[in-house]
Amino acid sequence: MRKNIVAGNWKMNNDLPLSEALISDLKRQTKTSNAEVMIAPTFTNLWHAFEATRHDDIEVIAQNMHFAENGAYTGEVSADMLKSVGIKTVILGHSERRAYFNEDDAILAKKVDQALSKDLRVIFCFGEELADRKAANHEAVVESQIKNALFHLDASAFKNIVLAYEPVWAIGTGETASPEQAQDMHKFIRKTLNDKYGNQVADDMTILYGGSVKPANAKEIFSKPDVDGGLIGGAALKAEDFYAIVNAF
Ligand code: PGA
Repeated sequence: MRKNIVAGNWKMNNDLPLSEALISDLKRQTKTSNAEVMIAPTFTNLWHAFEATRHDDIEVIAQNMHFAENGAYTGEVSADMLKSVGIKTVILGHSERRAYFNEDDAILAKKVDQALSKDLRVIFCFGEELADRKAANHEAVVESQIKNALFHLDASAFKNIVLAYEPVWAIGTGETASPEQAQDMHKFIRKTLNDKYGNQVADDMTILYGGSVKPANAKEIFSKPDVDGGLIGGAALKAEDFYAIVNAF
């Protein structure tokens, strides 16, 4: 049985006082769904966030990490560093990392390998750009992103991977993929997994949708059979909105 997950990606928002305030607000919310709740604050807030949610039903996760074990990589953060502040899950491959920090499939494959070798769970993000969708290339683009970064792995590795389909044209734009577009792509992703690894891996894979999910559209998107949750950006910055999405299952 696969899990439902709602993860809030705070991106480069919230300094320490704002992070403290948002976490206090989050702790006052009531969860009525079975979804696992995760929040991804920026690196400087991870330790505080981990401590502050130690006794709550909220997992603190990281937005990124480096592929190397350690060494001369000024400004970077390693898997061991994340683990040392309580982190068990890391987001990799977000479209903003791909677009602004030149993270390509080869780099992401190395990051995935490093995270898994350290027993971190990976939320692996991918998705097509608007031009790909207009050219009806969206399935081919998504398939190659998944294959290039993940298909060197053994089937057993996939129990520590969550996939997040995030069409680039829907991120932070207010434009959401329709529930049908999300369902069609998630079904295609599951088929791609099934073709390579068989139905056990495919059926057990949690596939999140991300891109302008908000309280008003979450229920319809999450009602689709192959959509197992969401990766939430803007709407994760307000506790009430975030829990309205968490409780949309
Ligand atoms: P958004 O971001 O909800 O603000 O569109 C989603 C994401 O980037 O994960």
